[in-house]
Amino acid sequence: MPNRRALVAGLAFGLAAAAAPLSTFAQEKLPVVASFSVLGDFVRQVGGDRVNVTTLVGPDGDAHVYSPTPADAKAMSAAKLVVVNGLHFEGWLPRLVKSSGTKATLAEATKGITPLEADDDHDDRGKGHAHAHGHDDPHAWQSIANAKTYVANIRDALSMADPAGKATYDANATTYLAALDGLEGEVKALVARIPAERRKAITTHDAFGYFVKAYGIEFVAPQGVSTEAEASARDVARIIRQVKAQKIPAVFLENVTNPRLVEQIARESGAKVGGRLYSDALSAESGPAGTYIRMMKHNISEIEKALTAGPA
Ligand code: ZN
Repeated sequence: MPNRRALVAGLAFGLAAAAAPLSTFAQEKLPVVASFSVLGDFVRQVGGDRVNVTTLVGPDGDAHVYSPTPADAKAMSAAKLVVVNGLHFEGWLPRLVKSSGTKATLAEATKGITPLEADDDHDDRGKGHAHAHGHDDPHAWQSIANAKTYVANIRDALSMADPAGKATYDANATTYLAALDGLEGEVKALVARIPAERRKAITTHDAFGYFVKAYGIEFVAPQGVSTEAEASARDVARIIRQVKAQKIPAVFLENVTNPRLVEQIARESGAKVGGRLYSDALSAESGPAGTYIRMMKHNISEIEKALTAGPA
């Protein structure tokens, strides 16, 4: 076995040597793990060529209920830096950190962000819901102002882990932060086109609290801020009544949740099904939301289209 492993390693080395110019060899890339796809994109934007990013929960994956794989543990133990969201988004992470034995620095991308409290007033599931009250809403990336804090935290964490790259990380972050400013302007301009009384919609789980606060579109969801617990029949019935009473124009599917619930609400309330929103994960690279900026543009464009057009 050792011989075979040595042979494979030698082969891989030989192939890489054949394919890569010498200069790539001189610089070893910083191994970074990002817990989910939005963070993976931020690390790539700021780290550029200096980093090698492994994303644990990939495109369209649900980080609320993830089960880490042996490959994840391997990436964790090889990492110099692990970037996580925090605010209890990645409940499975502490165990993975322990089991992988990683010595990497753990950076919380939400450091310095004032969390919103999860709105669980519709929490009548009748189960022992220890986390249901007074906990933080983890979906802070849905506000672009917060995303800028994420990027600044990631820039600082990369510079700490790889001081020789500081100038590169600073420059990349400055460029990307300017792009986020542009994005925020576009989002606000599209919101402004939606008549004020139609700025309300339904999603499956409560992932848009920060978006609501930042951009003034009201989202109501039968499921709480996590996808762990199912919505009760009472929650669904209440939302159907609410859609009718408040003339909520549209319901949206999400990439990380089952469409069944929202389709039922649309059917029974008469609201139309808008597009699919990317809440907790990017799409695949080739999809409509392969980066954070494309995700936010896609979401606001779907929201604007669905809420502006058609009768209430
Ligand atoms: Zn979520």
